[in-house]
Amino acid sequence: MKSESIVIIGAGVIGLKVALVLAEKGYGHYTTIIAEHLPGDTSINYTSPWAGANFSALSASDENALRWDKFGYKYLLDLAAKDGKNAFVKETASIEYWDELPSRAKIDSMAEYLKDFREIPTQDLPVGVAFGVKFTTITVNAPTHIRYLLKKLTQKYGVHVTRKRVSHVSYGYLSRDTKIVFNCTGNAARELQGVQDSKCFPTRGQILLVKASQVQQNVMRHGKDYETYIIPRPYSNGNVVLGGYMQKGVGTSDTFGEETESILSRTKALLPVLDSDRTEILSAFAGLRPSREGGARVARQHVQVGATGRPGILVHNYGAGGTGFQAGYGMAVEAVDTVEEEIKALGIQSQPRL
Ligand SMILES: Cc1cc2nc3c(=O)[nH]c(=O)nc-3n(C[C@H](O)[C@H](O)[C@H](O)COP(=O)(O)OP(=O)(O)OC[C@H]3O[C@@H](n4cnc5c(N)ncnc54)[C@H](O)[C@@H]3O)c2cc1C
Repeated sequence: MKSESIVIIGAGVIGLKVALVLAEKGYGHYTTIIAEHLPGDTSINYTSPWAGANFSALSASDENALRWDKFGYKYLLDLAAKDGKNAFVKETASIEYWDELPSRAKIDSMAEYLKDFREIPTQDLPVGVAFGVKFTTITVNAPTHIRYLLKKLTQKYGVHVTRKRVSHVSYGYLSRDTKIVFNCTGNAARELQGVQDSKCFPTRGQILLVKASQVQQNVMRHGKDYETYIIPRPYSNGNVVLGGYMQKGVGTSDTFGEETESILSRTKALLPVLDSDRTEILSAFAGLRPSREGGARVARQHVQVGATGRPGILVHNYGAGGTGFQAGYGMAVEAVDTVEEEIKALGIQSQPRL
């Protein structure tokens, strides 16, 4: 079937963004997503619904991260302006503090493209903070945003979606028509046969969902060994995500009372308006960021498929760590670019862009 010409394994924000880039190029009808978990599901093996989420300077300072961040920020800013309410993304005032000075490359990169960017004068910084900035961020209602993406992909662009777990990446080649497979399996890339990338590891975060409609701004404090953040969840009737933790190599879905207490005391100190009778704790969650030593892997590979060993192309796109929502679109564009020639060679007629 031609609808299986391009297959994406994974329906987290990374797989969905790859599908979106393909669909925007006119290949929606030729693309199938297969995934064990789909938007609307919750599982510790499905990271995307647990994200804060916002655009933050918490990402790395290497060239890839800086480029993907920039691309992703512009995309989200544009989406917020054109379709923010439906997409559950919104421009939001933001403050970020660092206890240790970030790299100059990072600061210069942020200053270049972040809307309303300005450094906070040293005398205005809280005690213990070495550097701070104000800018306009984009907040994302993660669980509803991925549902929006799925709906748009299936209803507007004709992308096919099948719930299916594969035990080997080569099972992504669903039929002889399948020429290109995108591996967007997040944390599962460590164990999935045919990939088994030992550089992958989970980074656990516990978060609290609270109702606190008095909170209108995003605030983050990047400590040496802690991460504290307050992210108003857009179009959620006053819900706010409080965090958090960055526990490398920890893979439990359990939540812990002392972590809840620590998150509450750190976030109230950071934003005193939270310390109010109006703040109601709704729940505590844990999610596992799909981290990877050296950063995300966006790369193509030639493979041999099936008993006959026919040639296939596999494009890896995983290891987004704590940045899948902010960097995902840039990663997707580059992943698709790696197979531009092969997609053209499929000889399928691209539909006009809708
Ligand atoms: C607490 C927390 C806060 C965060 N905050 C932010 C934030 O503010 N901003 C930001 O940008 N990012 C944030 N993140 C990070 C972000 O959530 C991740 O980078 C992103 O969700 C990763 O998406 P993914 O698609 O790679 O993985 P996932 O969402 O885990 O999706 C993986 C997909 O692959 C499928 N799959 C796996 N194995 C198989 C298999 N064998 N067969 C079939 N399907 C399979 C799964 O079912 C799923 O559909 C946060 C994460 C956490 C935990």
